[in-house]
Amino acid sequence: QANELERLLRRLDGRGYKAYKDIAGAYQFDTFTLFIDHVQGDPFAAPSRLRVVVPQAVAHFPAHAYATPSRAVGVANLLARRFGELAREQDRRRGSGKSGLISIDAPGQEMLPITAVKVTTEGVECRFAVGLPARGRTILGREAIALLLHDVPAVVRGALFFAAYDPAEVKRYADVNEDADWLRAHLPEMGLVAFVADGAILPRRSGVDERPLTGKRVVPFQSPDSLRVQVNLPNHGPLTGMGIRRGVTLIVGGGYHGKSTLLRALERGVYNHIPGDGREFVITVGDAVKIRAEDGRRITGVNIRPFIDNLPFGQSTANFETDNASGSTSQAANIMEALEVGTSLLLIDEDTSATNFMIRDHRMQALIAKDAEPITPFIDKVRQLYEERGVSTVIVVGGSGDYFDVADCVIAMHAYTPWDATEAAREIVRRFPTGRVAEGGEHFGDVIPRIPLPKSIDPSKGRADAKVKVRGMHHIQFGRHDIDLSAVEQVVDTSQTEAIAAALLYAREHYMDGTRTLREIIEALFADIEREGLDLLDRRRVGWFAAFRPHEFAAALNRLRTLRVRQADAAEER
Ligand code: ADP
Ligand code: MG
Repeated sequence: QANELERLLRRLDGRGYKAYKDIAGAYQFDTFTLFIDHVQGDPFAAPSRLRVVVPQAVAHFPAHAYATPSRAVGVANLLARRFGELAREQDRRRGSGKSGLISIDAPGQEMLPITAVKVTTEGVECRFAVGLPARGRTILGREAIALLLHDVPAVVRGALFFAAYDPAEVKRYADVNEDADWLRAHLPEMGLVAFVADGAILPRRSGVDERPLTGKRVVPFQSPDSLRVQVNLPNHGPLTGMGIRRGVTLIVGGGYHGKSTLLRALERGVYNHIPGDGREFVITVGDAVKIRAEDGRRITGVNIRPFIDNLPFGQSTANFETDNASGSTSQAANIMEALEVGTSLLLIDEDTSATNFMIRDHRMQALIAKDAEPITPFIDKVRQLYEERGVSTVIVVGGSGDYFDVADCVIAMHAYTPWDATEAAREIVRRFPTGRVAEGGEHFGDVIPRIPLPKSIDPSKGRADAKVKVRGMHHIQFGRHDIDLSAVEQVVDTSQTEAIAAALLYAREHYMDGTRTLREIIEALFADIEREGLDLLDRRRVGWFAAFRPHEFAAALNRLRTLRVRQADAAEER
């Protein structure tokens, strides 16, 4: 049947580009099946979508490579990366526009479940794209034959067959991913919210390059004795590192001593990392949420009273709405929205926080009376969050020792190495009382569930119906509106953004009926994804989705500027 494809392409040579539509279908090659699922309309359009299925009898991956979902995800990431590398090497211009290009949604440093490659008992399935060759709009049949019958099979042989790999590397990807999942699942029973392995490499090459920093000046992570715990990973075996316990943890230390780098590693620790990344065993509970100020964002229907109340002119903050939030209100809303979805850990960095949201010191309390200050600072809420709701916090604070009063643990960074400053901080609390008055009231306050109103979520654009497009990792064009995710720091891959965009459409269509709360919508959506996989979100079975969390799904919806909600009257959900 592969020669049938060849005959077909020979016949199409010299014809108009549209004639390529004829090659859609399945073709049996000697070692795999090639599916041409979608043929592009012209050489400059989005490339054609192809799929290759290699039966396990040919691919020959050992059973351990797909014995558990964790292991299969690790191996799929390896295969997708290799496929991407080989495709780039193969990449030959074979005409105009994207002619001759082979591309795949290759993962970055994070190992996420992806739709590009699947490894199972049956075999390996790989989805990718090619630019079908043309000069202008004229089909180049010979080039197409070279591309589909030579280049593609070469990449397939080099990336999807076990024989092409060092067996130890395949095992490493499977082992690391499985260990990381195992460790995350076992943090709670150890009383931990995060673990940072000894020897981990936390710094990155640059703000736009997530690969590990290299060189003599890189300091591997080393845990302080008092915070060291040992875990016993199923594959790696015993491993020591710093355990961050439940409660309120401060990361302090001089500027440039590595505080933010540690926090950023914890933020990303909700995801697994590829072998060699340096953060393979920097693991955070999966529902940890980075909280930051995000002035200018829209907020709708959020009860932010726990943090902001008594605005001038009596504006209510129990059902708060604004098109242009301030630093402190946005930070308050980000916390309340995280609690609405459900979280056990907040991660906060002073670098990206509103100062007036974080602290209000004794002197300011003396000058500005509580009833003239709408903001209840986080310092007065952080313990209630933990004690009443079981939500821990890790905060980077280099500038305010007032936080010593509320901390369970103080980690001090010095020249990129932590020491346990908890006792020293306690002693300072005894010697230098701040004189602050706690302003947090009796209780934390309510998280009021919200019901998204489907009419306010309109993906249509003019006469065209659904028009949703991802423009880079941090932008979703949703109908006529832009969703700005640039302050949503735990979106780490454009493929997550793609999946979130598709999920918004899917959820709008299937779950949003004006009676379900956001939380219920999320529960339904994720139960269905769990059962049917990410392919549920797009009937075309595309190869560019990566798994995402409820928190980032909610973050996208919450940033849709047209969104309207109704608060559920029901008592608070827990
Ligand atoms: P802080 O938040 O304490 O001011 P950062 O975390 O921003 O400090 O780190 C300052 C610089 O040091 C960054 O450029 C970062 O890449 C680098 N850095 C952080 N940790 C390490 C480390 N372990 N080894 C080498 N360089 C590091
Ligand atoms: Mg910093």
